[in-house]
Amino acid sequence: MSKRFNAVITGSTSGIGLGVATAFAAEGMNVCLNGFGDRDRIEETRAGLADKYGVKVMYNGADMTKPAEIRALIEEAEDVLGPVDVLVNNAGIQHVSPIEDFPEEKWDAIIAINLTAAFHTTKAVFKGMKERGFGRIVNVASAHGLVASPFKSAYVAAKHGIVGLTKTVALEGAEFGVTCNAICPGYVKTPLVEAQIPDTAKARGMSEEEVVQKVILEAQPTKKFVTVEEVGALAVFLASRQAGSITGAAYQIDGGWVAK
Ligand code: NAD
Repeated sequence: MSKRFNAVITGSTSGIGLGVATAFAAEGMNVCLNGFGDRDRIEETRAGLADKYGVKVMYNGADMTKPAEIRALIEEAEDVLGPVDVLVNNAGIQHVSPIEDFPEEKWDAIIAINLTAAFHTTKAVFKGMKERGFGRIVNVASAHGLVASPFKSAYVAAKHGIVGLTKTVALEGAEFGVTCNAICPGYVKTPLVEAQIPDTAKARGMSEEEVVQKVILEAQPTKKFVTVEEVGALAVFLASRQAGSITGAAYQIDGGWVAK
């Protein structure tokens, strides 16, 4: 990589986001981490990545439901690292419930974090990317951005929405060297998936083990969880200069789930 890219990855204190941040740092990118969690552990992660890969790693704890904090995150990243070359919209939450019981505040939070936050981050970086003639925006959608499952109304709506946003941003950036693509993972074993196993068991009247075997791994012909390292490698490629003609795409990385 000729120039050292500066990357912001939302929701990167855990799971897929942390996997992407690690893969980016390993490629020599400076990264801005974001997300919630224990401050000491986050600092350990930040310092560990900086030491191991010899790159700048910063942390900003902006809450993705708060547009002013999102704008301040991008400003701080630009002050500390320099212009943002790569933006990964990854922060996300889930709630599993039949629609008649679906809590309204959960709907609002999922739409805010999983969809609207990506509008605010993109808006904050887009002008600069266009002016510099280079930018890479990667939205972590989901297989649920392409197909639905019951009991995940807000999540499926938000993820289909972000695939649509991806296409629009791709068209607006196309002549300016700015690409925008979505990654659509199947099930990756992260805290987000582990936490939904008990609720899915309740909603479907199954044991937790049955949920893993009959709902989760049943969806994926490979019968294996996707790994954060695999998602990180795809994000590295989409962020690279070589991926300049790939834009507006929604990449399945789902063990064959959506092919069925
Ligand atoms: P995770 O729970 O491990 O990580 C989520 C991250 O988002 C954490 O860093 C968390 O602190 C952060 N976050 C949550 N709310 C936030 C907020 N309000 N503001 C800022 N950060 C916030 O989950 P994950 O599985 O790694 O999920 C990451 C993304 O991948 C999500 O968008 C999710 O929908 C998507 N995804 C996950 C899977 C899967 O199977 N795990 C599959 C497809 C897509």
